[in-house]
Amino acid sequence: MYDVAIIGCGVIGSSIAYRLSKFNLKTVVLEKENDVAMGCTRANSAIIHAGYDPAEGTLMAKLNVRSVDLTKELCEKLDVPYAQIGSLVLAFSDEESEHVRRLYDRGVTNGVPGLRILSYDEAKAMEPNIADNVTCALYAPTAAVINPWEYALALAETAVTNGVELRLEAEVKSIAKTDAGFAITAGEDTIEAKYVINCAGAEADVIHDMVLPHAFEILPSKGAYYLLDKSEGTRTKHVVFQCPTKVGKGVLVSPTVHGNLIVGPNAADCAVGDTSAGADDLAFVRKMAVKSVPSIDFRQNIRNFAGVRPNSTNDDFIIHMQDGFCDVAGIKSPGLASAAGIAEYVEQMLTDNGVVLTEKASYTDTRTQPRFKEMSHEARAEIVKKDPKFGRVICRCETITEGEIIDSIRRPIVPRTVDAIKRRCCAGMGRCQGGFCGPRVVEILARELGVSRQDIDKDKTGSYIVRERED
Ligand SMILES: Cc1cc2nc3c(=O)[nH]c(=O)nc-3n(C[C@H](O)[C@H](O)[C@H](O)COP(=O)(O)OP(=O)(O)OC[C@H]3O[C@@H](n4cnc5c(N)ncnc54)[C@H](O)[C@@H]3O)c2cc1C
Repeated sequence: MYDVAIIGCGVIGSSIAYRLSKFNLKTVVLEKENDVAMGCTRANSAIIHAGYDPAEGTLMAKLNVRSVDLTKELCEKLDVPYAQIGSLVLAFSDEESEHVRRLYDRGVTNGVPGLRILSYDEAKAMEPNIADNVTCALYAPTAAVINPWEYALALAETAVTNGVELRLEAEVKSIAKTDAGFAITAGEDTIEAKYVINCAGAEADVIHDMVLPHAFEILPSKGAYYLLDKSEGTRTKHVVFQCPTKVGKGVLVSPTVHGNLIVGPNAADCAVGDTSAGADDLAFVRKMAVKSVPSIDFRQNIRNFAGVRPNSTNDDFIIHMQDGFCDVAGIKSPGLASAAGIAEYVEQMLTDNGVVLTEKASYTDTRTQPRFKEMSHEARAEIVKKDPKFGRVICRCETITEGEIIDSIRRPIVPRTVDAIKRRCCAGMGRCQGGFCGPRVVEILARELGVSRQDIDKDKTGSYIVRERED
């Protein structure tokens, strides 16, 4: 019998698992895919929003603002790329200037520090490539960019190091209430847990309905992106937003934490799991983005992708506990930015519901990741001397060595696919998008895992790369 079963290992499930891993609890995380961060967490804008956007008094406002400092601390402790570059919301008319003023007032009420309204001249001085018809801008110095999937992985990895059990390819198909708690059918197994925490993202309504009367629906909405080469990465220095609308925060232009330029997203109703970045989605993104930054060179595009927002029939996050079952649902944007605060809130909710949380005598709360290309010459020489595999570059675009790939494979959550390696150490994230290093990553994975190359998938289970001839 587990004390707590967490369903879903996106950034929310990972954050909660990480927090609970410090206590004397038997915790299991059930994830239907073959890796952590396979849902919305791997395809978003990667912004730690400052917190002026959510309506005053909402859980979203409170948890977003609370999380800004928590996220920064966590990224530092767990060695997750994080850059506090600040954000601008541009206005292009008197009406939008009014909107920017309302966002400022809301931000002040929400407790966002350092907000300023900039004149056109001030905004242009900070961000020379913005359009000439900008009327004013809201500047939020606490906004940041991170690597969202590494953030979730680092949290989940630390939780596993501290004794949390992670079961991958364990899709929850039914949940029955028992005298002692819940019996959960996940993959081929049935497990028992006293408490269940539903962090199933776009499928959180399905999980909720397995236990409690129907209360909300997830309304999936797709957002597509351009990811441009690093040669475009300095086109802006800040996250450049437009005024938000009813359907979202609008199309943004921003440097990524890795030095690329990200442009998007649109917002279009879609089916759960529809991550296609279609021609119409992308045409809209281009049209809107050049309104903010006319000189973007879209020929430098290296990848398009789309993520699915788990919007819901409620305006706010749905975080609620009843009879031992806790929904953490409808975690749309700013869900990534709020994850640390959400986990803290859920911990408090468990305590309020009678769960006794006693801290372990010792637990791990730090993590490091070798990053060869960021090392000094001396550090490189030293690591290559210790392990010559750090002297063998596999991904030439991103300068990722065989040593880093092997380090990723030997971590507590073992990657089994080419994209799982990419998420851990960035091999294949550069201009050629794995065209050169992909086959070598397959070889290294097969060798280290002791399996055949045919067993290595590209991404989700069944996305095979190497197959036997069928003739
Ligand atoms: C286009 C877009 C842009 C965004 N930009 C930002 C941003 O810049 N900043 C920000 O703060 N937020 C942003 N967000 C929102 C943010 O990405 C989400 O709030 C966050 O990732 C939600 O995390 P999650 O863990 O709830 O969901 P997910 O990451 O989707 O995780 C849910 C997990 O549950 C698993 N699961 C589902 N059903 C089952 C089942 N039956 N059994 C077991 N496992 C199951 C899934 O496989 C998945 O891994 C954006 C979202 C999108 C789509």
